[in-house]
Amino acid sequence: MKVATFSVGGERRVGVVDASAGTVTPFDLPSEETRDGVAALARRNGALPPLLSPYPLDRVALEAPIPRPLRNIFCVGKNYHEHAEEFSRSGFDSSAAAGAIPKHPIIFSKVPETVIAGGAPVVIDPEVSTAIDYEAELAVIIGKPGRSIRPEDAFDHVWGYTAVNDVTARDLQSRHSQWLVGKSQDTFCPMGPWAVTRDEIDIADTGIRCLINGEVRQSSNTRLLIFDIPTIIATISAGVTLRSGDVIATGTPAGVGIGFDPPRYLKPGDVMRVEIDGIGVLENPVREAVH
Ligand code: MG
Repeated sequence: MKVATFSVGGERRVGVVDASAGTVTPFDLPSEETRDGVAALARRNGALPPLLSPYPLDRVALEAPIPRPLRNIFCVGKNYHEHAEEFSRSGFDSSAAAGAIPKHPIIFSKVPETVIAGGAPVVIDPEVSTAIDYEAELAVIIGKPGRSIRPEDAFDHVWGYTAVNDVTARDLQSRHSQWLVGKSQDTFCPMGPWAVTRDEIDIADTGIRCLINGEVRQSSNTRLLIFDIPTIIATISAGVTLRSGDVIATGTPAGVGIGFDPPRYLKPGDVMRVEIDGIGVLENPVREAVH
């Protein structure tokens, strides 16, 4: 099932997408629940509310599946072999002392206010950063809460998946050692176009791509993850309770801008397109900040 968060007539709704029919059918949910987007369903542990009448998809405004996560988005760094190697070679890697391929998952976070919908501009500010990069990623949405989750139980805690673009200011990421500010600039987490429930895709074999202005820069598959989803969930939840609606971005494949020589960073007017098979297309333009 594909589930979108959208607004129509000034109200936020959560509904089932039928992409071939071009419709989205909202669930009968109160606004206190739709405020959290698809997290409202993730909390219900499989029990679905009744459906209302469908809308044509082109008559609604899609929002990010979880427009404002309840807390920071968990993220995994250097989780595809070729990307770990290109990032280490770049000289920007403040974690390089540990070697190109991490022995344990690298976990960092982005603040919730970074999240924007597909179609919304990513704003880059040359007074703050001159090295802004794209990162196509599969994101996991947690359903059943849990602490110290065993890898063999991890998928019981997964409600579904979506696509994110972990936009990154490389100069800030490098300068401050910790990655938070370089990853948490306003508008730096496009998410969407919608979420899919975990039964919808084979998450161990899913194609992922990123195109910049139509040129394929990243093209990979989730089977090439260094640390798989059960390992990531077991790692983060060891002593940290995961909650319904938590989002975990699983890392980006090779082909980011910093992997080129010279680097190919984002510039105003660029269009970024993240594609994940079985989920959909997340496209965002790049705009320069207005002071
Ligand atoms: Mg990333």
